[in-house]
Amino acid sequence: MDKKTMMGLVKEEAAPGDVILHDDLPVPVIGPDDVLVKIRCAALCMTDTKDIMPWTHYAQKRVHPPTTLGHEASGDIVDVGENVKDRKVGDRVAIEPYITCGKCYACTHNIPHLCRNIVVWGIGVNGGLAEYSRVPAKCTYKISDDLSYEAACMLQPNGTGVHSAEVASPRGKTVLVVGCGPLGLTTVASCKAFGAKKIIACDLYDEKLDTAKKMGADVIINTRTQDLLSVVLDSTEGNGADAAIDYTCSEQMYNSELKALRPQGQLICVALPSKKITFDDLAEDLIYREVNFTGISGRLIWETWEDFETVMKSPYYKLEFVLGGRYALTDYRSAIEAMRQGKPGKMILYPDPEDMKNEENYT
Ligand SMILES: [Zn+2]
Ligand SMILES: [Zn+2]
Repeated sequence: MDKKTMMGLVKEEAAPGDVILHDDLPVPVIGPDDVLVKIRCAALCMTDTKDIMPWTHYAQKRVHPPTTLGHEASGDIVDVGENVKDRKVGDRVAIEPYITCGKCYACTHNIPHLCRNIVVWGIGVNGGLAEYSRVPAKCTYKISDDLSYEAACMLQPNGTGVHSAEVASPRGKTVLVVGCGPLGLTTVASCKAFGAKKIIACDLYDEKLDTAKKMGADVIINTRTQDLLSVVLDSTEGNGADAAIDYTCSEQMYNSELKALRPQGQLICVALPSKKITFDDLAEDLIYREVNFTGISGRLIWETWEDFETVMKSPYYKLEFVLGGRYALTDYRSAIEAMRQGKPGKMILYPDPEDMKNEENYT
């Protein structure tokens, strides 16, 4: 590497404040088990704008400024450490930001995405909103030649939407998806690609429900004007759905979803609660009907990534519906502003604006 300095978005201080673009950061030096990735594109996450920049309790526990942010990215390997045998210069990769310990119960029982000692690349250590990043080789996922960098950039943030569908094992089943933001839409497309019999999508906005239909939903419910329980029962011969996947974490929705499940149905929770949740009647709605109540965190390493590539290549997944906008890295303030204005979808930043043009041709 001849280049010694680079651009990157840095959270400078352990206090409220936006990231700042630096153009004189040192290009990272890699260790023996790392690779150096030339970042092609990286996305901003709500965690960046809603936790790290305002410096919430979450950020205070995990970020140690100054830190280059960015935990959703893809690019090319341009250097490999001496111990790295299964990656080479030129590999196109996406990055799993969970750096796991390899020693705890989860790591030694084949569920490393639930590692107790996780350090997150781009949060706990410098990440990918930069021209280059140092990444442990074990955190890189090789992407196929026909997948664009931009699509690969979605594998991490929207992978949770695929993981929730994996847990529902939707083949031949009726699945209720409540909340049709980018993750919910990814779940709809995943359930369809995995062979669901019927997908019932639910939201408060007709526009999102129209998109859900285009991504594979068979029945849509606008809960502003329709009763979730009665539509689900009507759509399932009165039996209830096999699984419900929740992206709202609203008390009212949880209670409706429980009632809308068949006996031994499955309620899968993805959205995080902002306050305590009270259940109407846990005995009738859950215990006497043996409903399975479960949470989802992150992505399976690497099953979800492989499944997501399959979903992306299915006719139901449409990148344009989960993409918010494309920006040069130097124009990061516009991307942050768009997020604050509530523009839906992922905001993707390009260190090299030339790559942005190539990507537009790709997708
Ligand atoms: Zn994120
Ligand atoms: Zn661990």
